[in-house]
Formats: sequence, structure tokens, C-alpha cells
Amino acid sequence: MTSLGLEDKVVLVTGGNRGIGAAIVSLLQELGTQVAYTYRSSSEDQHGALAIQADVTDKAAMEAVAEKVEQKLGPIYGIVANAGITRDNFFPKLAIEDWDAVIDTNLKGVYNTLMPVIPKMYEREEGSVVCISSISGERGNLGQTNYAASKAAVIGLTKSLAREAARYGVRVNAVSPGFIETDMVKSVPDKVKERIVSEIPLRRFGKPEEVAWAIAFLLSPIASSYVTGEVLRVNGAHHT
Ligand code: NDP
Repeated sequence: MTSLGLEDKVVLVTGGNRGIGAAIVSLLQELGTQVAYTYRSSSEDQHGALAIQADVTDKAAMEAVAEKVEQKLGPIYGIVANAGITRDNFFPKLAIEDWDAVIDTNLKGVYNTLMPVIPKMYEREEGSVVCISSISGERGNLGQTNYAASKAAVIGLTKSLAREAARYGVRVNAVSPGFIETDMVKSVPDKVKERIVSEIPLRRFGKPEEVAWAIAFLLSPIASSYVTGEVLRVNGAHHT
């Protein structure tokens, strides 16, 4: 059988307890990967994956996560920087706390996740990083100045780090999902959802599993070995 080459590789997924993160944990396990994931609040057991409670905004906690994963599972080959939040409001009403929370989680959280591992990947001359951006970061969205800014920044981080990391054999890519059926879009009113779906050429929201496959492709040392600095859209042609 053809393989993605992820068997027995160690991959760390942030925010792996639900939504897109849970789908990637589950798919990676099916592909034979050694998966560790973080969560903030609570988590049900994900079929034996190593679950660690840690807030991505906490630098020391994320350093401890990297150490624990390497101790328990071995050298980290892949990282999926997935944890993210929204705190939507129209700009004049956007509180500084909501600005800070989104930037801290979605952008600084990526820094905190990658920093303890990237130097080790350079030493080992092996690694694949996938950051999660968003359609909002690419084209903007009403009520999401904070979120869109954080997700656009993630693309800048991805492209810059990809250029730096290439000489060490480490690849860095991003996945940019459109509207995906998770808790994150549950709060969108039905009327708004209908309007959004009518704008999507595939005429539906995406599923977490459909994003997970794109992430698995980018993690794969076989399937995407010549892909780095790329932003892979998974959005049903909502934005091209
Ligand atoms: P969910 O709201 O379903 O899940 C978010 C995940 O992030 C949870 O596991 C949550 O943990 C975790 N998380 C949030 N804040 C922190 C934190 N400070 N520290 C650690 N973990 C944290 O979101 P999705 O699955 O929908 O989104 C996953 C990623 O995909 C996010 O980056 C999001 O921005 C992005 N995305 C989502 C889209 C969508 O339509 N759903 C579209 C485009 C991008 P806990 O449960 O413990 O709070």
C-alpha cells in the first residue's frame, strides 16, 4: 500500500481535543503517527494519543509540552499549530481585551508552539510545520479585524520561516480553511450561514476531516517533500 511516510513519526497538534484539531489527531493516528496534542480546558481520551493540558499563550507551558513529548514519544518531526479563537465585533466596538486575546492565542501562540522545537528540527535536519491560517486572513471578514490580522500574520510568519528553515531541511506551510463545520462557526446566525453558503461554489461548509487531509499532505515527507512556504486553501473555491 502507498503510504504518506508518517508511520511512527512524532507529531504535535495544538488544540487537538475538538474541531479541526481533533480531526487531524484522529487521521494521523489512522496513518500510524505517534500523536501528541494539547488542549486548554478539557479533553476526552483520543484513542491513546498523548494529551497535554497547556495554554498556547503560556511560553513556559509550551516549552514543557515540547520536553514532555520528546521524553515520552521521541523527537518531534511535525507540528500542527492549530489552536485558535475568535472574539468578533465590529471595529468601533472591539475591546482591547478581545484584540489582545486573539493576537496572543492565534499569533503569539504559534511563536510559543514553534520556538521550543524549531532549533531541534534544525539540528536533526528534519521537520514539517503546518500553521493554520484562515480565509479571513486572506480576504478579510466583517467583524473580524482582530482575527483576520492574526491569520494574515500567520501567513507572513509561515513564508518567512519557510525561507529560513529550508537550508536545514525543515518545511513550513500553512493551511487556509474556509468555513468549516466546528464549534467556531456554530455561533454564526442561520441567516448569515445561508448567505455564506450561497457564496461558496461547492455550496456547503467544509468538514474538519477535509482540512485534516490537507494537513496530512503537508506533513508528509513523501507527498509534499518539495512544498514549502505554501498556503493551501481548503475553502470550496470561496476565495481563490
Ligand atoms: P474550535 O473552536 O472548534 O477549537 C479550537 C481549539 O483551539 C480547541 O481545541 C481549543 O481548546 C483550542 N484553543 C483555543 N485557545 C487555546 C489556548 N489558548 N491554548 C490552547 N488551546 C487553545 O476551532 P476550529 O477547530 O474550528 O479551529 C481550529 C483552527 O482552524 C483555528 O486556528 C481556527 O482559527 C482555524 N480556522 C477555523 C475555521 C472554521 O471555519 N472552523 C476557518 C478557518 C480557520 P479548548 O477546547 O480546550 O478551548
